[in-house]
Amino acid sequence: MAKQITVSGVRPTGRQHLGNYFGAVLNFVKMQEEYNGYFFVADYHSLTTHPKPEDLKANVKQIVVEYLACGVDPNKCILYLQSDLPQIPELYLIFNMFAYLGELERAATFKEKVRSQPNNVNAGLLTYPVLMAVDIVIHKAAKVPVGKDQQQHLEMTRDFVARFNNLYGVQYFPEPEAFNYDSSLISIPSLDGEGKMSKSKGEHTCIYLADEPEALRKKIMRAKTDTGPTVPNSPKPQEIQNLFDLMRLVSSSDTVRFFDDKYNDCTIRYGDMKKQLAEDMVNYLTPIRIKIEELSANDKLLNEIINDGGNKARQSAAQTLKDVREIIGIKSFGE
Ligand code: AMP
Repeated sequence: MAKQITVSGVRPTGRQHLGNYFGAVLNFVKMQEEYNGYFFVADYHSLTTHPKPEDLKANVKQIVVEYLACGVDPNKCILYLQSDLPQIPELYLIFNMFAYLGELERAATFKEKVRSQPNNVNAGLLTYPVLMAVDIVIHKAAKVPVGKDQQQHLEMTRDFVARFNNLYGVQYFPEPEAFNYDSSLISIPSLDGEGKMSKSKGEHTCIYLADEPEALRKKIMRAKTDTGPTVPNSPKPQEIQNLFDLMRLVSSSDTVRFFDDKYNDCTIRYGDMKKQLAEDMVNYLTPIRIKIEELSANDKLLNEIINDGGNKARQSAAQTLKDVREIIGIKSFGE
């Protein structure tokens, strides 16, 4: 049976954090074994915040380096830059005809941006879900490994796809599903105890894959906690639950159980728990950080990988555009 297709990407807006890793990139690494994987750097998507050209270039490189350091293997999947596919903007134009203003305005991420950056509510932000849909359907993907924050965008993608297929009476595009390898979609919490880990919330709230051990320890020791439980087996407040959630990702199950028991009998010392979490986090991330450092010095290899990935991804995208033009009746007279 033909392998299913999976597509996903990360925006080059800075270094990747634990949310990117556990929500997305770790899934890429697992999925490349069983799926036809297309993994990309979402550089067009980052233009909504008008980055400086030199920052954008450096951030694109950073994402490629980090993908590779995490184990994304160009021999097992196709790794490319979104902007290396000229078919993306063309299909984006076409898919804009299947997206309605009301639903775009209701998207949670759009509403959040309207609140957080009222002076830059550009049309690119509004149609972000359309571009994201196109990233996915350009290779006719069935599964999309993303964090929970992208769930609504995936639902919108399915709607756009259904409208396209219905209008033209074809079953051309599959309706893709958001995917997480071991469980339902996840959201990695911020160290400030509120909401998801996100670059926009500030350096000290994020654990970056490339963080030096000392920086990492400091951030974890500063993570928000409370005065501790006074009643045995009481529910955990959000910020404490977050620490346990992070611990579950990088520590042994014995360690988690040890602190869970201490929480439940009210003898927990958060300082000890955070120290343990920091050490386990350092151990978990150190091999990735070392690979990031090594790969950053190898521009030749990075260029080769991206050129090769771009060539392969363009072939798939060109086939899709050829089919779509045929389906919708855009054809030159000479053809
Ligand atoms: P972005 O940095 O917004 O381009 O996100 C890239 C990928 O990381 C997407 O699949 C997101 O869903 C995922 N992601 C970002 N932040 C988190 C988080 N805190 N928890 C889980 N996944 C996340």
